[in-house]
Amino acid sequence: MPSWALTAGMFPASDSPHKHTHTHTVTRVHTVRRHSQRWVHAAALTRVCSGLTSFLSLSASHWCYQIQVKPSNYTCLEPDEWEGSCQNNRQSPVNIVTAKTQLDPNLGRFSFSGYNMKHQWVVQNNGHTVMVLLEDKPSIAGGGLSTRYRATQLHLHWSRAMDRGSEHSFDGERFAMEMHIVHEKGLSRNASQNQFAEDEIAVLAFMVEDGSKNVNFQPLVEALSDIPRPNMNTTMKEGVSLFDLLPEEESLRHYFRYLGSLTTPTCDEKVVWTVFQKPIQLHRDQILAFSQKLFYDDQQKVNMTDNVRPVQSLGQRQVFRSGAPGLLLAQPLPTLLAPVLACLTVGFLR
Ligand SMILES: [Zn+2]
Repeated sequence: MPSWALTAGMFPASDSPHKHTHTHTVTRVHTVRRHSQRWVHAAALTRVCSGLTSFLSLSASHWCYQIQVKPSNYTCLEPDEWEGSCQNNRQSPVNIVTAKTQLDPNLGRFSFSGYNMKHQWVVQNNGHTVMVLLEDKPSIAGGGLSTRYRATQLHLHWSRAMDRGSEHSFDGERFAMEMHIVHEKGLSRNASQNQFAEDEIAVLAFMVEDGSKNVNFQPLVEALSDIPRPNMNTTMKEGVSLFDLLPEEESLRHYFRYLGSLTTPTCDEKVVWTVFQKPIQLHRDQILAFSQKLFYDDQQKVNMTDNVRPVQSLGQRQVFRSGAPGLLLAQPLPTLLAPVLACLTVGFLR
């Protein structure tokens, strides 16, 4: 078993409140192990210390979403006060202005491995979201990524409002939910150089919109009732594959790409983001189940909802779009309609 897997095993998400939505603790630990130069040691030690400090002060000032601030009697840190890298300038999520995205022909199709494997996954309320533990089983390559990445977990962000639950937005438009499949680079021969890489983590992001009932999501939706409170775990009653949860594979060649951060503290700027254009559809009742069944607190007083970080400034960054042929979805509707109407008119006149 690779050492990073052992390290991950030392920090079960349920036991460490500091290791929540994403997996920065694991990387921080290998940072210490792998680097030999003295200055790197110093930098790593600083990061470990700041991690410990924030861990120790958790009870006094744990981070929270805006909606939790008042119920916590203003004791938790709201998004504007989040620590770590959260106030830096390469943060996520962002609003994607589609007309300003740049076509990148290197952004080809992904190769998905293990995405068709049905499994009864462990599902967890971690106090910020619902997380499905993926045990490094599925993996991805291609899609303009530099190497293969293994899936560690997936989780979602949501609201009761069907236009306020996604973190990313397209031309200012937000969706009911957003699903993040989090992948990490395995250790490679030059791992020591990769630990500070801006693409250490690859997140696949999917918008969720309300529509018809999605039976493939039922094992996850039904699991929610078993885990109302933080640190509760359950197992899905039926096997589900990742492909079961995604839009049809053909649509997955259309996506946006940019470099950003984790959207939860400590907001490490080491994420290569892939935001797919085609939303997943769930029935409104399936979407609302997340807000109804899950709670942020042990007393079940504060429903888990609006677990969404506000949009961050894009700054100098460029958002790219995949270069696969047939960018129909990226075209404004009039561009598509004009030739169709022209053909119809010609046909009609003939
Ligand atoms: Zn997320």
